[in-house]
Amino acid sequence: MGQQSSGDPLSTISGGSRVAFFGGTFDPPHLGHLGVARAARAALGLGTVLFAPVGTQPLKPQGPTACFEDRLAMTRLAIADEPGFALSLADAPKSTGAPNYTLETLIALRAQLPPESVLFCLMGADSFAAFRRWHRAAEIPFVAPLIVGSRPGEPLDILDSALPRGVTLEFAPQTESVASEVELRRYILRNPAGRQSPFYLLPGLQIDISASQIRDQIHNQTQPSTAAQTLQPALLPPPVLEYIRAHNLYR
Ligand code: ATP
Repeated sequence: MGQQSSGDPLSTISGGSRVAFFGGTFDPPHLGHLGVARAARAALGLGTVLFAPVGTQPLKPQGPTACFEDRLAMTRLAIADEPGFALSLADAPKSTGAPNYTLETLIALRAQLPPESVLFCLMGADSFAAFRRWHRAAEIPFVAPLIVGSRPGEPLDILDSALPRGVTLEFAPQTESVASEVELRRYILRNPAGRQSPFYLLPGLQIDISASQIRDQIHNQTQPSTAAQTLQPALLPPPVLEYIRAHNLYR
């Protein structure tokens, strides 16, 4: 398992902070990831977004292309210049080889944070579309309220159908003034036991970038030596592009 060079981000989270867990394969981390995290940070007034590369994603049986160490290194590079973004090992590979379940990760993170801090769980709309299939999904929003960022090709009218059975969603009218330019819709989730949790949607994001598109683009280059160099710079932070080239990834 890789070590963080900058220490444990949780040790720098002060009392009262608003923190979002942002899990992903980050294979590689791209400008879509940074865009959704920036929007969530602005819209929800988050102190920290924790970028947590996953060891074993239970719903991606084919596994990542790059190893955990490379994905961790690229994620560190991707967020290096961003205030309020931190690298997290919360979803690092388990010594048992067991899959990383988000519920367990969030419960562990919650226990490490100061009691007065608020923990959220950030994801894109494609991840949320499969949410019903996540391990003990019905419990997750009540450990950490969900923030879902829209994504091209992912309809937002399926919110209800993505929810675990028995969990209902109700629109919550705006009650506070919003300082951010980022559009934010608020909802209330309820479970059959009567528990409530806020649910947030960022409906205005349309960042047409995916890691699979980037990997395919590199893999399909006819001139392998220039593969990563000819990628559109609009897709990746330059240091990540440089890392991919230097380590000959995705060829
Ligand atoms: P792949 O194409 O390999 O499936 P990906 O681009 O979706 O990868 P992941 O690392 O799997 O990247 O995504 C981590 C999280 O970031 C997920 O919750 C995903 O929905 C979200 N995300 C990734 N790209 C975007 C984007 N362009 N807009 C909004 N959310 C995104």
